[in-house]
Amino acid sequence: MQAEAVYTRGMSEEIRTHALVVGSGFAGLGMAIAMKQAGMDDFLILEAAEGVGGTWRDNHYPGAACDVESHLYSFSFRPKADWSRMYAPQREILGYLEECVDAYGLGPHLHFGRRACGARYDARARRWKVETEDGTHYSAAVLISGTGGLSRPAYPDIAGLDSFGGATFHSARWSDDVDLRHKRVGVIGTGASAIQIVPEIASDVRELTVFQRSAPWIVARPDRAIGKVEQALFRRMPALQLLARKAIYLRRELLALGFVVDPRLLKVAERMAAAYLAKCVPDLELRRKLTPDYRLGCKRVLLSNDYYQSLQRPNVQLETEAIERIEPRGVVTRDGRLHDLDVLVLATGFAAAEAVAPFPVRGVDGSELDALWQDGAEAYLGTTVARFPNLFTIVGPNTGLGHSSMVFMIESQIAYILDCLRQMRRHEIAAVTLRPEIQRAYNRDLAARLERTVWASGCRSWYRTASGKNTTLWPGFTFEFWWRTRHFDLGDYELEFDAARDERPETRRVSLAN
Ligand code: NAP
Repeated sequence: MQAEAVYTRGMSEEIRTHALVVGSGFAGLGMAIAMKQAGMDDFLILEAAEGVGGTWRDNHYPGAACDVESHLYSFSFRPKADWSRMYAPQREILGYLEECVDAYGLGPHLHFGRRACGARYDARARRWKVETEDGTHYSAAVLISGTGGLSRPAYPDIAGLDSFGGATFHSARWSDDVDLRHKRVGVIGTGASAIQIVPEIASDVRELTVFQRSAPWIVARPDRAIGKVEQALFRRMPALQLLARKAIYLRRELLALGFVVDPRLLKVAERMAAAYLAKCVPDLELRRKLTPDYRLGCKRVLLSNDYYQSLQRPNVQLETEAIERIEPRGVVTRDGRLHDLDVLVLATGFAAAEAVAPFPVRGVDGSELDALWQDGAEAYLGTTVARFPNLFTIVGPNTGLGHSSMVFMIESQIAYILDCLRQMRRHEIAAVTLRPEIQRAYNRDLAARLERTVWASGCRSWYRTASGKNTTLWPGFTFEFWWRTRHFDLGDYELEFDAARDERPETRRVSLAN
C-alpha cells in the first residue's frame, strides 16, 4: 500500500488517497480486492463499524441465512469448497468475508469506526473531500460507495412505538442482550427477515404473536447440508464446483423470464406455492390468512421449510388485524384488543427506495445527490451519475434483483469501475463525468421496461418509492447487466485530463479517438 500522505490543515488532519471506498461488505471488499489485484494499491476503505461484513455483520438475528445458494452467493474468483449448507448461515458468510480480508491483505487499507457523513467534490482540485463522523477528513481522486442497498433499517410509523415498556429492536439491529426465553414476544412484519426469525425463536418463547400486514408468497427452500465427501470433491475438482455454480445461475436466470419478460409465466410458480401452503397448513382459516392477494414475484418470493409449521405451534398466533397503536404494555390492534408483550421485534425491512444517497454527497456546482434523487434515484448502469465526477455507486439505483445473487451484480459493477480506473491511468484522465443525455436515455429505457415487469403488477414493496417509481431493481437478465458493464466506454463521459498530459499534444489525440 502506498503511504498515505497525512498533513494538517488548520486543526484537522487530511488523509489523502487515490481511491476511497466506503463500506466493507461484499461491494467494498470486492472492489478493494479488484484494485489490489490490478496493482492499484493506493486506496483506503472507510467502515463505520468495528468489523467488515456489511449486511452480513449487521443482520445476525436468529435464523439469519442467505436465500441464494452459497456456491453462487460468493465471489466468482474465490470459491469456497467447504460451505456447510446449500444456503449458508449468516455467521459462515461473515467468516467468508473476514477470510477475504486476510487472504488479499486488505487489513492495512481498512479504517474502522469511520462513518462517512459528507462528501464534496472540489472541482478545482478534482478531488473528493470526505468527512467522517469523528471529524477526520479524507481527500481522494475517486470515491466509490459500497454502502449497500439494504443498510438503513426502516422503522414503522406506528403511534406510540416509543412508549412500549419492554425491549424493542429492529431485526437488523438484533439485541443479543435480551433473553427471549419464556417471554411474550411480538414480531411485526412477515418479510424475508421475519420468516427466518419466527421459526427460530418460536420454541424458546412463551408466546409469539406475528403481526402480518400482507401475506407473503413462500416456497420450500431446497436446503441441505453439504457433506465432507462433497466438500472434498469440490476441493479436488474446482471445475465441478464451477459447474454447480453455473447450473444454479442458469436455473435462477429462468426465473427472470417470469419476472421481467412475461409475468403470466409466474402462474405455474403461484400454483406450486399455493400447493405448498395447502400441504403445510391444513386449517382453512389460517390458510386463507396466509394466502397472498397479489401476483407472485411482485414482492420478493420467500423461501422457508419451517415458517408455516412454526405458525401452527400452540404458543404462536398469526395476527392479521391491522395495528392501531402501541402502548407501554403491548400492541393494540384495530379491533381494540391489546396484545400484552415483553419484547417487540420490528422486522419491518429497510429504507431502500427513498432518499438513498449513501450520505450527503455534493457534486459539481454543489448539486446534492439526495435533492437530485428526490423523485427517485437515477444513475447509469447503477454506477455513475451525471454531475458527480469520479463517483461510483456499487449497488446503486436499479441494480437489485428479485431472482439471483447480488454478488454477481456487484462483480459486474466492479469490473466496470476497474476498467474505468485502468483507462484513467492509461490515458492520464483526471476526471470522468457521465453525460446527462446518456443518463436520461438509459433511465427512459429502464422505466419503460420496468412497466412490463411483475413488480409493477400492483403491490406495495420496498422496490418502489411512495410515488410508485421502481428505483431498486434491474429489469432484465443478469447476463445483460454483465455484458453492458464489461467495458467502460469513455464516449459516455466528459473527460478532464491531468495537467501534465494537457501539455503533451500527442497524447491529447488519444482522447479524441475515444
Ligand atoms: P421486507 O421484505 O421489507 O418486509 C418488511 C415487513 O414488515 C413486511 O411484511 C411489511 O408488510 C411489514 N411492515 C413494514 N411496515 C409495517 C407497518 N408499519 N405495520 C405492519 N407491518 C409493516 O423486509 P425484510 O424482511 O427485512 O427483507 C428485506 C429484504 O432484505 C428482502 O427482500 C431481501 O432482499 C433481503 N433479505 C434477505 C434475506 C435472505 O437472504 N435470506 C433475509 C432477510 C432479508 P407489507 O408486506 O405489508 O409491506
